[in-house]
Amino acid sequence: MSEFGPVDREFVQSLPKCELHLHLEGSLRPDTMRRLAARNGVDLEDDLERRYTYDGFDHFLELFLMGLRVLRTGEDFADAVEALAGELAAQNVRYAEVTTTAFSHNRRQVAMADYAAGLNAGRAAARQKHGVELGWVIDIPREIEPPESPFTTDFVTGPLAPEGLVGIGLGGPEPGNPPEPYEQAFARVRAAGLRSLPHAGETEGPASVRGALEALGAERIGHGVRSVEDPALVDELGTRGTHLEVSLTSNVALQVVSEIDEHPLPALLEAGLSVGLNTDDPAYFSTTLNDELLLAATSFGLSRADLVALQAAAFRASSLPQDRTAEFLADLSRVST
Ligand SMILES: [Zn+2]
Repeated sequence: MSEFGPVDREFVQSLPKCELHLHLEGSLRPDTMRRLAARNGVDLEDDLERRYTYDGFDHFLELFLMGLRVLRTGEDFADAVEALAGELAAQNVRYAEVTTTAFSHNRRQVAMADYAAGLNAGRAAARQKHGVELGWVIDIPREIEPPESPFTTDFVTGPLAPEGLVGIGLGGPEPGNPPEPYEQAFARVRAAGLRSLPHAGETEGPASVRGALEALGAERIGHGVRSVEDPALVDELGTRGTHLEVSLTSNVALQVVSEIDEHPLPALLEAGLSVGLNTDDPAYFSTTLNDELLLAATSFGLSRADLVALQAAAFRASSLPQDRTAEFLADLSRVST
């Protein structure tokens, strides 16, 4: 437990924060969803609030797909980004890497030039109006974009790539869709200077994480919590210094663990791995980064210093230039524990 001050909401709020794993398409709160739906004449079911308390992955996917329907124009994307930035700023989140899935929008006939312009405008507004710096991760949705598809690799290495793009991700359901077939796609994007930031080890076990490390050259792992099942893999993650983007509420909501007490966060920290906390899909899981830090503290008895360390790990694992990382770490070091 805390040696000095209490780990309360006020303390968590005061921390300068960094979040590395959240999806733009999972960040639409009901009011934003309604606003965009009204603008586009999209008829949302009237039980929208009820839909945000779903009961499993299928219901989650239903809500996720409904969210996609309201994002049509560049202005919609810009507004969605700005709404997210306002929320981040209100929590003292200074920097976030936001994942977005170009392929899904292209498939819905959203013009990629509009999509990119919307991301750029939203990112500029995030900085100018909210003081939040954003980086983008564009992911390949493995359940719908096959490994041989050139779409996402062309987009992220082409002229329409959004400003602030830092890396490529691999999202979607892991079962039946291992990382290895995406080796060439990732190699091409990494050769263009982008980072490898795939999801792995969420619903599949250690083999998925090994595949992400070896075939995709993963620099961070989205989730990665099931690495804990293989001590040799945990050692390897430690040796490589691979950061794990952990999302507690998401893991419980999607039943990666049956309850929060079962979550392997304490074991991952005990093993000395670089770990940070994240919201994943904050609107759909009804959470915030502050909530995640508080949940970790109350569930596992983390101290103020432990939460500072989690945030420091996230800043270090970010794609910020070294001097910016150093500034944020200096800000963090001034927080009294
Ligand atoms: Zn995710």
